[in-house]
Amino acid sequence: EKEKKISDQEKVQKKPSEPAIFIPVDRSPEVQEARLKLPVLAEEQVIMEAVRENPSIVICGETGSGKTTQVPQFLYEAGYASGGRMIGITEPRRVAAVSMSHRVAKEMNLPTQVVSYQIRYEGNVTSDTKIKFMTDGVLLKEIQKDFLLQKYSAIIIDEAHERSVYTDILIGLLSRIVPLRNKKGMPMKLLIMSATLRVEDFTENQRLFRTPPPVIKVDARQFPVTIHFNKRTPLEDYTGEAFHKTCKIHRMLPPGGILVFLTGQAEVHSLCRRLRKAFPFRKGNTATAEDEEAETSEAMRKFKKAKQKKTVSLPRIDLDNYSALPVDEGDEDREAGIGDEEDGDSDLDLGDDPADAEEKADGSIPLYVLPLYSLLAPEQQAKVFRPPPPGTRLCVIATNVAETSLTIPGIKYVVDCGRVKKRFYDKVTGVSSFKVTWTSQASANQRAGRAGRTEPGHCYRLYSSAVFGDFTLFSEAEITRRPVEDLVLQMKDLNIEKVVNFPFPTPPSTEALVAAEQLLVSLGALEEPPCTGRLKDMQRAKLICPITPLGRAMASFPVAPRYAKMLALGKQQDCLPYVIAVVAAMTVREIFEDLDRPARSEDESSKLNQRRARLTQMRRLWAGQGASLLLGDLMIMLGAVGACEFAGCTPRFCENSGLRYKAMVEIRKLRGQLTNAVNAVCPEVGVFVDPKMTPPTEHQVVCLRQIVLAGLGDHLARRAQGEDLVDPKWKNAYKTPLMDEPVFIHPNSALFKTLPEFVVYQEIMETSKMYMRGVSAVEAEWVPQFLPQYCHFGSPLESPSPWFCSSTGTIRCHRSSTFFRVGWQLPAVEM
Ligand code: ADP
Ligand code: MG
Repeated sequence: EKEKKISDQEKVQKKPSEPAIFIPVDRSPEVQEARLKLPVLAEEQVIMEAVRENPSIVICGETGSGKTTQVPQFLYEAGYASGGRMIGITEPRRVAAVSMSHRVAKEMNLPTQVVSYQIRYEGNVTSDTKIKFMTDGVLLKEIQKDFLLQKYSAIIIDEAHERSVYTDILIGLLSRIVPLRNKKGMPMKLLIMSATLRVEDFTENQRLFRTPPPVIKVDARQFPVTIHFNKRTPLEDYTGEAFHKTCKIHRMLPPGGILVFLTGQAEVHSLCRRLRKAFPFRKGNTATAEDEEAETSEAMRKFKKAKQKKTVSLPRIDLDNYSALPVDEGDEDREAGIGDEEDGDSDLDLGDDPADAEEKADGSIPLYVLPLYSLLAPEQQAKVFRPPPPGTRLCVIATNVAETSLTIPGIKYVVDCGRVKKRFYDKVTGVSSFKVTWTSQASANQRAGRAGRTEPGHCYRLYSSAVFGDFTLFSEAEITRRPVEDLVLQMKDLNIEKVVNFPFPTPPSTEALVAAEQLLVSLGALEEPPCTGRLKDMQRAKLICPITPLGRAMASFPVAPRYAKMLALGKQQDCLPYVIAVVAAMTVREIFEDLDRPARSEDESSKLNQRRARLTQMRRLWAGQGASLLLGDLMIMLGAVGACEFAGCTPRFCENSGLRYKAMVEIRKLRGQLTNAVNAVCPEVGVFVDPKMTPPTEHQVVCLRQIVLAGLGDHLARRAQGEDLVDPKWKNAYKTPLMDEPVFIHPNSALFKTLPEFVVYQEIMETSKMYMRGVSAVEAEWVPQFLPQYCHFGSPLESPSPWFCSSTGTIRCHRSSTFFRVGWQLPAVEM
């Protein structure tokens, strides 16, 4: 305590030039002691001087050196949270924002009303908040509301090395906002923090910062880590390899925590289970049962709690609560893109690997096995920071959350599978797929570094040194890998018309920007460009299309532009509650349990078969019949959401119906949020979303199909016919404007048997074939009205059939065709 006070006094004396602000912080002696060990503390003077003298600075420091937890405190102590302004810190991962805000609040001995967090669906920010941790998407939304970010005196962009899309854009925007604030006499500071030394994209980018910001390096006291490569590289079963390696370490090597890197939640759980079996706690040690149970899933916990209360009260969306609405992050996929959460999250017991029998405890001490991934409940996550029970060894099985965002104490051994799960997009077609790929050398080295924080450590790489040599040096910036239409729309809404000129740290390809702009024009979100000149000029022209009022409304909905268009149209014919439910279900993705995975044992296989049959039955039920069937997979989603809410959205209902409980909970939150967003855009509509929807009428289903077509128009597919069918690969296949290959309706789809002539789809996923997902049927008559750009209006003499796809995929139709003359039997939706 005394020591602390002296050092505080020294601080004030040593900086006479500094404004006489020093906000004391009352830290506990234990915190004070732990802090002093952090390398970043040695650099406090240097960092704060650099902050005072420069508008922007970059801090590089090894993971665990104390950047995230300490730098906000430096700023706080130097008075940056005084005078009514806040210190903001952005994180690319939700788990980091939440966990770090709790940690800093605890270190500073301040309540969470003062050190708070804000993530997509939740937060504890109050009017007293002085330090605010948030996901990067949240800050982006705030810039939309107030470009100058006047609430803040300093912004810290954390984990900049991850190169998440929103982080990149934020840095681009802040490079403009900071000078603007200075010019207006309300100075603001920007701190970019990175775990690697590779920051040239930020510092040496002339378009970003005219004078390169100073880079402050924090030297971490890193102990040597011995790297052990595998002789061979298992191509398939790296989880099994990780299991054997971990068992070996535990049996043969001296005490010290083990950290295993895998790629996804399902792998993490499966390895946890196997390790617990192999090294169980002794009887009488209650920790095992407790832990195993606690983390089965948050779902079960909540369910049990509800059951204890006996009455399961039906939850309601709080509709009066929208001024305090959490600010939104935009695209749902973003965090998933980084890592690990798109993994079907089932708690089915996978059974044991027969090989596990060899791995006997043979007198070893118990292994205290903990999982760690981004969707794990916060109280479970917090466990990794606490010392393991006496007489046990800590073993954390993690996704790459543990690579740089969270530092686990006491790790001496790292087991690295060398892989990472990423979403990949085809730039042209937008086809996406999840792939487990090799990680980069930089990230493999980060992982290894986790072993040498407190003493010399060891890293076991489950791949050979030759394979490591082939890794890319660094991970690519995410922005170069994904479609950017949502970003382009957000930027246009910020009145950045020439998106090509935006100072991206790494710019996306012009090709991707043009594609985005074209889509947005076709959705009516941007003004049609003057169509003159050669193609190149046109493309250039397209990059400066200003936003339309519809575009502004769409930008205010926290979903992808195609879905935002649906929301904008949704108020017609009282369809909005349904549109909101469908959009929420499409945005959350993967609402069904993944039952198509291979079974690991016969027992499991029969269990899986039963569940599959049940899910098929439910799908059929929800799809309905007649008119509703034509809404297709979206009707199934609607039915699932409706039925689930009707049953009170319990884990048991989800479990029994093949739904992912977590997904259903997210859908509920998103429905509330979208309702508020729609109400904010057009208050006169005044939607009220009853969580318990009644099914739509036939009339409404038809409207819904049109609204869906209006949003997904560019995802139109037509059944292959005529000449195409000569080639058997086109049997039951569909043609799309963008692709040469046939695409198919999945056997799980509501429309698998119907095979309508025209359909729109949510996305194409490549698995064994190119499958359309989220398919909905389109009436041929609607195509010329909704998608005139795809239609060629010719004379009836031109072809024998009134409709056909040309080789380029455009759809020709005759103005005089019977379809047209019949007129609208069905209610029309105004565009
Ligand atoms: P960096 O941002 O440089 O990677 P951090 O500020 O995240 O470093 O971590 C600094 C230290 O704080 C680490 O030793 C870490 O283990 C510790 N720490 C972080 N969160 C917690 C927590 N919730 N409980 C205990 N220790 C924590
Ligand atoms: Mg950090």
